[in-house]
Amino acid sequence: MNYITHTYDILIVGAGLAGSRAALEVSGELKTAVLTKLYPTRSHSSAAQGGIAAALGNEEDDSPEWHMFDTVKGSDFLGDQDAIEVMTEDAIRTVIELEHMGVPFSRTPKGRIAQRNFGGHTRDFGKAPVRRACYSADRTGHVMLHAIYEQCMRRGVDFFSEFYVLSFIIENNVCCGVVSISIHTGELHLFKAKAVMTASGGYGRIFKTTSNAYAGTGDCIAMLFNAGVPLEDMEFFQFHPTGLSGLGILLTEGARGEGGILINDKGERFMETYAPAIKDLAPRDMVSRAILSEIKAGRGINGKDYVYLDLTGIGRKIVETRLPEISSFVRLYMGIDPVENPVPVQPTAHYAMGGIPVDIDGRVLRSETGDIIDGLYAAGECACVSVHGANRLGCNSLLDTVVFGRRAGKAMVKQMKSIDFESCQKSFDLHADIALNRISGLKGSKGGDSVNLIAIDLKEVMMNNCSVFRTEQGLWEAVNLLKVLKERYERIQITDKGKIFNTELTEAIELGNMLDISEALAVSALHRRESRGAHYREDFPDRNDLDWLTHTFAFKSEKRIDLRYKPLSAGRFEPVERKY
Ligand SMILES: Cc1cc2nc3c(=O)[nH]c(=O)nc-3n(C[C@H](O)[C@H](O)[C@H](O)COP(=O)(O)OP(=O)(O)OC[C@H]3O[C@@H](n4cnc5c(N)ncnc54)[C@H](O)[C@@H]3O)c2cc1C
Repeated sequence: MNYITHTYDILIVGAGLAGSRAALEVSGELKTAVLTKLYPTRSHSSAAQGGIAAALGNEEDDSPEWHMFDTVKGSDFLGDQDAIEVMTEDAIRTVIELEHMGVPFSRTPKGRIAQRNFGGHTRDFGKAPVRRACYSADRTGHVMLHAIYEQCMRRGVDFFSEFYVLSFIIENNVCCGVVSISIHTGELHLFKAKAVMTASGGYGRIFKTTSNAYAGTGDCIAMLFNAGVPLEDMEFFQFHPTGLSGLGILLTEGARGEGGILINDKGERFMETYAPAIKDLAPRDMVSRAILSEIKAGRGINGKDYVYLDLTGIGRKIVETRLPEISSFVRLYMGIDPVENPVPVQPTAHYAMGGIPVDIDGRVLRSETGDIIDGLYAAGECACVSVHGANRLGCNSLLDTVVFGRRAGKAMVKQMKSIDFESCQKSFDLHADIALNRISGLKGSKGGDSVNLIAIDLKEVMMNNCSVFRTEQGLWEAVNLLKVLKERYERIQITDKGKIFNTELTEAIELGNMLDISEALAVSALHRRESRGAHYREDFPDRNDLDWLTHTFAFKSEKRIDLRYKPLSAGRFEPVERKY
């Protein structure tokens, strides 16, 4: 067989915060490898701006219980409350641990970790905004990832940079490794391991306008879907209210946390109407819908498809010290000084609430009844625990990555069994064969359709039919158009036949992954006939707790996607009307 083999105790796909934090937990005694299609610190985690949530109470009174309540309410009551409790209870310890690892958080005048307001963070069960977001200016993800990466280097974790994972090897319900290709050389590398984890991030790139990096194509989610793993709650995809108009580049919610406001063409602070108690600090699903409703009603700036984010009242000092990154984006990409002039913004595809179903220890579920796949774990944005339910609160994703990355690491160590790699050998050879055939098939195809053109059409379909406002008709249309795009995908042709840095090849594979994920999203959304969190159906505008307080599980069979449903774990907080 024409491949190179590596054997590890623990193998992690993804070097963002979830993967790196898990690697740190398992490293030392155990031989640990992290595979990443990028250089590790270029993972999307490093683009996170606004902060990480923890009820430290450094600026004003706060409690993990309020944090839990906000997260449950923010999720539109679809989040699993046992998982949310684990996360919010562990948040304070987590942030202090990060501080001890060397994360340079911004400070209060007394030298404590500074905290600021963020959407949906409230005190006293929704009474008023609370300062809960711990931050390092607007580069929080960047400094966290660098600190954890440094700790991993210290502990001897082997990073394989620019290794593209092609498939997971699952034999008799046990995961025993992955097949990958070195992007540098084009050679096939097989990794055998006793425990395998995916922390491969989100898939915002399926949409035309997104805040996500180019790598956000949901590869491992699609690979596992194709290998028989169900996908949970795919219909819930978050649009962040403030992307730079026309570009999608994110301007953190921290900008509103510091006092920025949204205004329409009439100069009105319109969030006063939509969320009278917390206004511009309402959760993202509500603010995104509010912006688009203003635009629909003709109150976009000059009748166009954007509103203004106005930071002019904050003052230069705060903008320069607490929001330096986003103000440089505004100057660079829009030619506007945000201290002097308002900034044109519109909603941008931002975060996947759904993904690979896992339990609170990161073990991947293979059914809605809780069966697991031995030796396979997931954490971070690719996974669905589900702490974010139908809508994630700002700053809860960085928290999710490090809390559940660490827990998955602990579980891998505790549950690690010896695997008889001999018994998987046939499977290794078979998977290597499939991968080699796929690559030569793609390189040899003379079909004539273009990866780039199909990708453009895909993003258009997802943006038009599956974004903030959805209808039965639009979703059916998406499902049918996606079928056509998948047929076209069978006829793609790539011009680069080389081995070294063949990014045309990896982009072609990514497109296949995005098509599979988009189909799961559209089918799941089509069948959820209610509106909840980020999933808003114009034809079913109300939340329907009687029928839909349940998680969607999408399974892929030969020719179609089947849906089953998993009840929520009963919780402390009963669903109530979601007013802010
Ligand atoms: C612009 C922006 C700002 C944000 N700001 C905040 C914030 O302030 N607070 C907050 O809580 N959340 C924020 N988020 C969300 C949060 O940053 C992400 O959800 C989180 O960092 C995801 O981390 P992760 O470890 O799951 O994945 P990522 O950091 O995306 O890492 C994914 C890893 O998987 C690897 N990978 C993927 N596919 C393959 C493959 N086929 N083969 C090999 N490797 C692969 C990649 O190379 C990468 O290393 C923000 C997101 C964006 C886009």
